[in-house]
Amino acid sequence: MELEKVLKKHFGYHTFKTGQKEVIKSILAGRHTLAMLPTGTGKSLCYQLPGIILDGQILIISPLLSLMQDQVDQFKRFGEKRVIALNSFLSTEERNRALHQLSNYKYIFISPEMLVAPYILRKLQELTIALFVVDEAHCISQWGFDFRPDYSKLGEIRKKFGNPLTLALTATATKKVREDIIGSLDLEEIVKIESTIDRPNISFYVKELLDYRDKQNSVLEFVANLKKPGIIYFSSKKAAEQMASLLAEKGICLAMAYHGGLDQNTRILIQQQFIYGQLDVICATSAFGMGINKENIRFIIHYHMPMQIESYLQEIGRAGRDGDPSIAILLYSPGDEQLPLQLAESELPSEQQIDWLFKKVYHEHLLNDGKITLNKQLMEFGGFTEIQWRIVEDFVKNSSLEIGSLEKLQRIINDFVKERLTIKKNNIYCMKKWVESNLCRREYILQYFDETLSNKVYPCCDICGLQINDYQAINPNNFPSVKTTEKNWNNYLAKILINSELRE
Ligand code: ADP
Repeated sequence: MELEKVLKKHFGYHTFKTGQKEVIKSILAGRHTLAMLPTGTGKSLCYQLPGIILDGQILIISPLLSLMQDQVDQFKRFGEKRVIALNSFLSTEERNRALHQLSNYKYIFISPEMLVAPYILRKLQELTIALFVVDEAHCISQWGFDFRPDYSKLGEIRKKFGNPLTLALTATATKKVREDIIGSLDLEEIVKIESTIDRPNISFYVKELLDYRDKQNSVLEFVANLKKPGIIYFSSKKAAEQMASLLAEKGICLAMAYHGGLDQNTRILIQQQFIYGQLDVICATSAFGMGINKENIRFIIHYHMPMQIESYLQEIGRAGRDGDPSIAILLYSPGDEQLPLQLAESELPSEQQIDWLFKKVYHEHLLNDGKITLNKQLMEFGGFTEIQWRIVEDFVKNSSLEIGSLEKLQRIINDFVKERLTIKKNNIYCMKKWVESNLCRREYILQYFDETLSNKVYPCCDICGLQINDYQAINPNNFPSVKTTEKNWNNYLAKILINSELRE
């Protein structure tokens, strides 16, 4: 059947978006494919549609719970019920039931961590995997080496499924990252379909400010005047919460904070309120956004500089999915790079921590039969964070040792940490160079992704003479101008909470 007919019949769309048909044709021709398509172009269709044609299951490795839930909801909207997300949202009972009837499902979403669990892997191996999909495949390179080591094992896992047809999807990957993805998945012959990462309707604006007070005032002014809705990104949960309270207190807009420190239900609730237009602004950490399908986001403000250009592009890519003009504002004050540098260091275990741990292993005889036994107490006493501990655990789990080789393993971990830190620092300096550069911001970013700018757009960026007034709302600050007291703000929140519950 003609692909357009399948598209219309099953998804209700008349035409393919950029790149979709090419990717789908490549998959249907049985070729491993790496597709780099801009955010919002409909990457999911690239595995949804082949699933209708191919025999066997479509296994989708997805990095985030919220992303999986969003994808499952998308399927349900198309009337496809044979879909499951194997994640921690399922109770043990639900998960066991699902695992016993896996063949009833056509599309199976799973995180890399769950995929490597031997029992689950065995159950999945009983199926015929028609297509092995790695969604947000840049995570293999961005995260695989640090706090999600299981990402780097996807190549091995693929082999355990007998080298199935594979589709790696991403929106933001430099040439180096694309090579990492292919290498990591161990794909020899692969078709690469790469469309531009440029989003012409998103303009760039970088503003240099004196200090954080100046920044805070600047955010209040931008938010009061710009067309909404919008997202403000912070690197710290506390700063996100403070700004959300400040925006509400000053009566500027309806804002809430969103970060990993909130419980799951609160996060889902805030996300839904934003999607349904009950909140104007989300003050978020990077925990917010992946898989959020809100078409009309008009601005993205970065209060803190992200740790790399790739993350920046991912985050600003959430704006303007409806194609209307949108703006990405980055605020910078001298010394701002210190925070990402500290974060980069804190994500990795320090040399002292590693030294302490290996002394414990040696003195407390934790090495038996070539294996080190680690326990959570060691993590606590050594002051390791979950992320740091995962790195150590991963090295330890995958090594077979004798007493004499403990030193060698310690050296390997230390070298790894040093190398990762250098890469991370480099990424931060690249981001800083972009902020300080006098070149067109769009052109610079495209160059970073090995692309050249073919069509000059206007308005483009602050360097190219963009006027911020073009992005102002017609009636700026249309929220009641009286200072919102805590009481009426709480009343308001209570109302929207009730509304969303009713909607469910
Ligand atoms: P991405 O993962 O690339 O950010 P999604 O796969 O979530 O994007 O899709 C974004 C939106 O585009 C979804 O609402 C989806 O239903 C819609 N979409 C996908 N393909 C088409 C198409 N061919 N025509 C119209 N809308 C589409």
